[in-house]
Amino acid sequence: MSVLGIHLLGSPVLRQETRPVAAVTDDVRRLMDDMLETMYAARGIGLAAPQVGRLERVTVVDVDRDGTRQRPIVLVNPEIILRDGSSKGEEGCLSIPEVFGEVERPAHVVVRALDRDGRPFELDATDLLARCLQHEIDHLHGKLFIDYLSLLKRRSALTKWEEEKAKYPSLVRTVVPAAVVADHHDDEEL
Ligand SMILES: [Zn+2]
Repeated sequence: MSVLGIHLLGSPVLRQETRPVAAVTDDVRRLMDDMLETMYAARGIGLAAPQVGRLERVTVVDVDRDGTRQRPIVLVNPEIILRDGSSKGEEGCLSIPEVFGEVERPAHVVVRALDRDGRPFELDATDLLARCLQHEIDHLHGKLFIDYLSLLKRRSALTKWEEEKAKYPSLVRTVVPAAVVADHHDDEEL
């Protein structure tokens, strides 16, 4: 497995539509494994293929990570088949480091996808998992959390990002794997 570079806001791939995966092959499984390794190294709770410069419709999430315990979920061709309720919560994104904003989304979703063996499954999600899944599925359609912010809040998020961006001239961030997995992070990035 390898840790992949994370594309940052401004990299065109983040705004591209992904392609449905026709068959879950070893190549797709390798991509999932690399994405999981990248997500854990970056201490994120979700990662979508465009964030690592790929256009396969694949995302990985793990909102239950606690210390060394990992509960990865991989989703191929995920689709939201039910949306219910509404909840507000703060979001960040591994592709827009240090920028956060409050986003209102359905509080409960049911997602249909294929697993790493190509078998269909459904996931009933609430709370952080529901938020994370919606954020990642948005990525698969070129959409970012900042798109939901009001004009004023989006402007201030982008001003903050302009300052941060200077650290990443190539618009790809190289993640240095965390030495200590148990390190706790207050702001979760997806
Ligand atoms: Zn994100």
